Amino acid sequence: MSVLDKQLVPIFEEVLDRNPGEAEFHQAVREVLESLGPVVTKHPQYADSAVIRRLCEPERQIIFRVPWVTDSGKIEVNRGFRVEFNSALGPYKGGLRFHPSVNLGIVKFLGFEQIFKNSLTGLPIGGGKGGSDFDPKGRSDAEVMRFCQSFMTELYRHLGEYTDVPAGDIGVGGREIGYMFGQYKRITNRYESGTMTGKGLSWGGSQVRTEATGYGTVFFVDEMLKASGADFGGKRVVVSGSGNVAIYAIEKVHQLGGTVVACSDSGGYVVDPGGIDLALLKEVKDERRGRISEYAALRQGATHVTDGSIWDVPCDIALPCATQNELDADGAAALIRNGCAIVAEGANMPTTPNAARLLAEADVMFAPAKAVNAGGVATSALEMQQNASRDSWTFDHTQDRLAEIMQGIHDRCLETADEYGTPGSYVAGANIAGFTRVADAMLALGVI
Ligand code: GLU
Repeated sequence: MSVLDKQLVPIFEEVLDRNPGEAEFHQAVREVLESLGPVVTKHPQYADSAVIRRLCEPERQIIFRVPWVTDSGKIEVNRGFRVEFNSALGPYKGGLRFHPSVNLGIVKFLGFEQIFKNSLTGLPIGGGKGGSDFDPKGRSDAEVMRFCQSFMTELYRHLGEYTDVPAGDIGVGGREIGYMFGQYKRITNRYESGTMTGKGLSWGGSQVRTEATGYGTVFFVDEMLKASGADFGGKRVVVSGSGNVAIYAIEKVHQLGGTVVACSDSGGYVVDPGGIDLALLKEVKDERRGRISEYAALRQGATHVTDGSIWDVPCDIALPCATQNELDADGAAALIRNGCAIVAEGANMPTTPNAARLLAEADVMFAPAKAVNAGGVATSALEMQQNASRDSWTFDHTQDRLAEIMQGIHDRCLETADEYGTPGSYVAGANIAGFTRVADAMLALGVI
């Protein structure tokens, strides 16, 4: 960990005091504050107006009971969350995560990250996040529907196209968005398309939204490669995870001439030296909601590994696309040993602080989630634009807009890093550029 500027130490201590036990939230705040030293030195108005202290405190936190009935008639009770973190740039925007690990600290870390990510896109969206400790794994379709309906029966009163616009995240895909949007529509008796994003194409969704986080991640890495005169041709890539982000990252790497040689799920990883067969992976994961062990069983030449780590697989580019803190110091050491040149975060905060430090010391190019995976939420904002104008764009037009936005984020990171004396640091560039846009809006809007 690097040292914090002395003006920022009391702010971080206040965050620790006010949010006890929320380790991921502390980690996310510290990581941003570590970049802001040169900013508060150059622009004292940010410290004078307590803008950083205000940014670290969510505008509103909602916690609610979600009761629902299983297929066998048992009553289950889960907990629902929505943290409306910052609305200086636009309505709260961010996904809903359904996973047993979800708690207030996790939702706060994700909501905090979302502020800067959304700011970096240059689009008019504030930051928020939500979810539940509900585990969709092994649940029938009818159970998932009843859960989603109960969740939305409480959450709907906080949402709206000008207020708060959720989307998906881990455990929440098109099916869950459908059930929640259906319940919202039923309760309010209004077809407010702009209230949720990630909708299906026939009911207000956008082309490319499903693919956007994965595609955007690879567009960002393509810009990093271009900046050093290279491209994806012939590169070996390791992508952790096998969910929505991973699948479409793999698709775009293959389209750009690279080869993805490994991917994973919580039960282990698959090595497929000939390149992951995407049609088979989609069939196993998307259609059958199965495990990657089934992929390995069906695919000649692929091996399923249940011990060790996916980061042991030699590669030129590593894309952690599974979950927070999945790439630790051992993983980073293995990547460095095997000559990996680029690590870019497709998931939210997948790299531990120690791993990030090792990668930096070894001069591995590293790009943080809030820049790399912003394509998902950026395309959500494009979905909101289409909903507002009652229009729908073609796949190619939407993809071109996404590629342009990712290029803009990439360039803004490097320009900002240069301006603040940390050339080449995507971390500093993303944190500072994300911060200054939202902080300037907060200053303009007064003490609210
Ligand atoms: N869950 C995604 C993220 O982490 C997308 C959020 C959205 O589209 O609102 O950025």
